[in-house]
Amino acid sequence: MANPKLKSAGKPSQNSNVIARRKPAAVKSVYSLAEREEIFRRFSIQRPEPRGELEHSNPFTLVVAVALSAQATDAGVNKATRALFKIADTPQKMLDLGEEKVREYIRTIGLYRNKAKNVIALSQMLVDEFGGEVPQTRDELVRLPGVGRKTANVVLSMAFGQATMAVDTHIFRIANRIRLAPGKTPDEVEDRLMKVVPKQYLYHAHHWLILHGRYTCKARRAECERCVIADICKSPEKSCDIPAPLVELPPQVIGEAVE
Ligand code: SF4
Repeated sequence: MANPKLKSAGKPSQNSNVIARRKPAAVKSVYSLAEREEIFRRFSIQRPEPRGELEHSNPFTLVVAVALSAQATDAGVNKATRALFKIADTPQKMLDLGEEKVREYIRTIGLYRNKAKNVIALSQMLVDEFGGEVPQTRDELVRLPGVGRKTANVVLSMAFGQATMAVDTHIFRIANRIRLAPGKTPDEVEDRLMKVVPKQYLYHAHHWLILHGRYTCKARRAECERCVIADICKSPEKSCDIPAPLVELPPQVIGEAVE
């Protein structure tokens, strides 16, 4: 186990004034590399194969599902898209279905009118400009209507296996609360996390952090007594120093609704 008293290896080195001046936010974590490795090693034991909860069958349905999930729960999106994706799992099929029908399928999701409009518009762009395929770069993805940086990151990670850090409300809270990668904006947190998360854990890190935030380090109350990194955590809000037993969690725990 990592020694919590280790001095931070993440601090900019003393002789890197020039670099530090150019990039003031280089690495802000108060955790040493050994501590960061230990945090993510434990997360990897708890959830060896973390997966997003949004149901999809290909990159296109993933883009649509993620775009629909803004200000909605994954469970709510899945409920609506199950029937939709059965008949429209490609951009062309979505266009053939038309905005009005799409709206009917997703009317249980918040902001559904605008989202239906975006689903049709992004399908149109995929057909017109990308040969009906979902592009594999962030710059191209964020051109799609209704697709922001966070959505693009989720798609790059889940559909194309690229290590990205899609900062949602849970990740933003944890990064600041435990001071792993503090930042005032999601972009700042994303930038810092990409630097402080040990490379070997980067691919799954965003899922681990989301799930940790959703089920343990919750918004209303951090359940530190159930936390496997309670001994390493440097949050001023922490209420317990003893780590919870490190065991693999049953898959059903990952998908349950909480909060
Ligand atoms: S010890 Fe508490 S505050 Fe720290 S990560 Fe765990 S749940 Fe969050």
